[in-house]
Amino acid sequence: MRRGGRRYRQRVLVRYVVKVLAGLVLVGVVFLMVCGCLYLRDLAKARKEVQEVSGKNVEGTEPSEVETSSMEEQKEETQETEQPEYKFTVVVDAGHGGNDSGTNVTINGELIEEKHITLDVAEKVRDLLEEQGIDVLMTRVRDEYVSLDERTQLSNENMTDLFLSIHCNSYDDDTSVSGLECYYWEDDQEGMDYAASIQEAVKEIEGLRARGIRESSHKSNNYEVLRENDRPAVLIEMGFITNDEEREKLLDDAYQQMLAEKFVQGILNLIPEKVEAQDKQVNKTESENSLPEGE
Ligand SMILES: [Zn+2]
Repeated sequence: MRRGGRRYRQRVLVRYVVKVLAGLVLVGVVFLMVCGCLYLRDLAKARKEVQEVSGKNVEGTEPSEVETSSMEEQKEETQETEQPEYKFTVVVDAGHGGNDSGTNVTINGELIEEKHITLDVAEKVRDLLEEQGIDVLMTRVRDEYVSLDERTQLSNENMTDLFLSIHCNSYDDDTSVSGLECYYWEDDQEGMDYAASIQEAVKEIEGLRARGIRESSHKSNNYEVLRENDRPAVLIEMGFITNDEEREKLLDDAYQQMLAEKFVQGILNLIPEKVEAQDKQVNKTESENSLPEGE
């Protein structure tokens, strides 16, 4: 009875262990199946997203954010390399100012001073140049004294493309003398080109006598703003305030505007050539490490 009872208990125990093991296996299988299903579901979801994104790309309507920004970067890069922008800079110099009134005449008790006319035209030239996207530096913007040194310094220190000095003429000995002339320094080829181009442009003004371009040198018409300028420079004598008719015109706002427009036209006519020459010079000096020009 004791031995038989022990065998019976052993059999019951074995059966119990087998049942527990079978149960565990079953639970394990169910667990694996659930995991498998979840995995497949995630996989399908991920595939669907990929298809949606690539589908939009094919249509070309809505590229993903990452691609848009990289495309924009590329676009910017190509724009930078394809369109190198050269910024043109002109110094506009209104002659005289402050206690230096320039030339002057008194007509019927009224004092007419060159310094006011030069500033009026200079401001008009500035506005027109800026409208064309050209950088402008003014030697003065009000009625104040500025030395000739300071004027040329502004040009030399900023490596400007052109220095344009604006003046009026006078000739007391013969008040019938009238007309506009442009001066350049004797060895300033670019200055001469600009002077000639401006002179051509002003010929279109009806009634204006274009007196031509003139050389400035140590011997004659020794203008400091041209002599001490390392940059291309032109000095314009817009007309004679000693001539009654011309003085009236020079004081007229519409005539001043017309002059300013022609000066700017003369400058603009040369700019494409100058920019091209500038590019060549930059390439040349980069390899040569050139010395500063002049003294
Ligand atoms: Zn003057």
